[in-house]
Amino acid sequence: MIKKKMFIDGKWVDSLSGKTIQIVDPGKNEAIAEVPLGDREDARRAIAAARKAFDEGEWKNTTPTERGRMVSMLGDLVEKHRQELAELESLDTGKTVTESLWDMDDIAGIFRYYGELADKDSGEIIASPVPNSSSMVVHEPVGVCGQISPWNYPLLQASWKMAPALAAGCTIIMKPSEITPLTTIRITELAQEAGFPRGVVNMVTGPGYTAGAELSENHDVDLISFTGGIETGRKIIKAASGNVKKLALELGGKNPNIIFEDADFDTAADYVLNGVFFHAGQICSAGARVMVHSSLHDRLVKFLVDRIGRIKVGYGFDKDTQMGPLISRDHLEKVEKYVGIGQQEGARLEIGGARPDPAKYPELQKGFYFMPTLFTGCTNDMKIVQEEIFGPVITIEKFETEDEAVRRANDTVYGLSAGFWTRDPDRIGRVSKALKFGTVWINDFNVYFTQAPWGGYKQSGIGRELGKTGLEEYMEIKHIYQNYDTKPLNWFGK
Ligand code: NAD
Repeated sequence: MIKKKMFIDGKWVDSLSGKTIQIVDPGKNEAIAEVPLGDREDARRAIAAARKAFDEGEWKNTTPTERGRMVSMLGDLVEKHRQELAELESLDTGKTVTESLWDMDDIAGIFRYYGELADKDSGEIIASPVPNSSSMVVHEPVGVCGQISPWNYPLLQASWKMAPALAAGCTIIMKPSEITPLTTIRITELAQEAGFPRGVVNMVTGPGYTAGAELSENHDVDLISFTGGIETGRKIIKAASGNVKKLALELGGKNPNIIFEDADFDTAADYVLNGVFFHAGQICSAGARVMVHSSLHDRLVKFLVDRIGRIKVGYGFDKDTQMGPLISRDHLEKVEKYVGIGQQEGARLEIGGARPDPAKYPELQKGFYFMPTLFTGCTNDMKIVQEEIFGPVITIEKFETEDEAVRRANDTVYGLSAGFWTRDPDRIGRVSKALKFGTVWINDFNVYFTQAPWGGYKQSGIGRELGKTGLEEYMEIKHIYQNYDTKPLNWFGK
């Protein structure tokens, strides 16, 4: 059993209450670790340390180049411990080790990207409209940042927040999901090795409704960066209003994947599977909502039923596993509930829709496994089409015209990402402009990289992570104006 602590003000500590949380391997439903159950008071101690380090410590006198070097070093440390971190992530989340290794490569790149960007910002000189004056714009770190992350990509999501915040010169309190804290604990150990001064990096393990809520409400926190569900996002917006914190929110998505009649069918159909079944569909940008032109519908369904029937569901550490378990029993029950709703709504269950059959998969009965699932006959007024199921469930809708496809794709409260498949250059121009999503993929799906911004339109979030914008989220903008010709104006009371 792994036993770990929280990191506050440069020290590894237990929770003040002495209570702990058990961390479970979702592939076997066995306890693998014990971490402190931090609550509001633990979060307050971490906030006080981060405040002191920001206001008084040596951190505020580090140059951007020195900060960049430390952030880049974290990238090197992630690469050095790539295998160990990937295995820890798979143990904690259930995803295949291959997927976790991809995550670690991305994460090393994220730290290096922001490390290199740290000293490239040169502000701006403005052509002042006032004679004998100068005007310049400088960027300064926002301050103390609370960073709350979800369970689906624990270290990847933490790194999207940690790397730019530290490169910008902020101090941070990370709060990983209480379900999957292990790799965030490990990266905090590596941050210690990289040499960040005391109080700059803090990490509290504990539930959202106590530790997370304190970070969102506390007036000594200047910015809250949150990735998670939309309902939690709403609570955080309210909690952050007390001191009008800066907010960066990455919320859910229900992402249409549209196949037009002139698509390269074989590639598009294959990508329907890639778009959904990585990490058992527990991806904010999963292309779970497939929309297909009626002329290709039957061919697509036949193709998908055949391929879905051959997906190898299993334990994330087994070499031939293609899809691992869901994260928890609660989440498994939520996905099952949606399958029931889909059937009540009149959608047709083509394949899957259940836990693995005990006769066929006796080894998968303890973990939180769910078979890949396909619904056809779906319409955009159905709950299974509109709501985020966050599991291995595809819904298929038919359409006749381009206008209809775009109108229906946009008919969602979410706006994270969308993709479409066509060979027509004019259609590419029209449809990419018409779709109201933060990312639009053409002839591809689920591609993101560090250099380009990521985030949502509408209720999928506020602000952007990644790219240069991801760094700007952690910067205040200051205009500095100087008058070179000081003399009285003699305007009032003369
Ligand atoms: P969640 O909202 O339940 O929890 C996310 C985090 O918020 C956890 O650390 C949790 O402890 C904390 N939290 C819970 N209640 C809180 C409160 N009242 N105050 C402060 N913090 C609180 O989400 P989840 O189930 O862990 O993650 C799945 C969700 O994350 C999905 O909706 C998914 O779409 C979303 N997500 C979005 C992106 C993106 O880039 N937009 C990326 C990954 C995941």
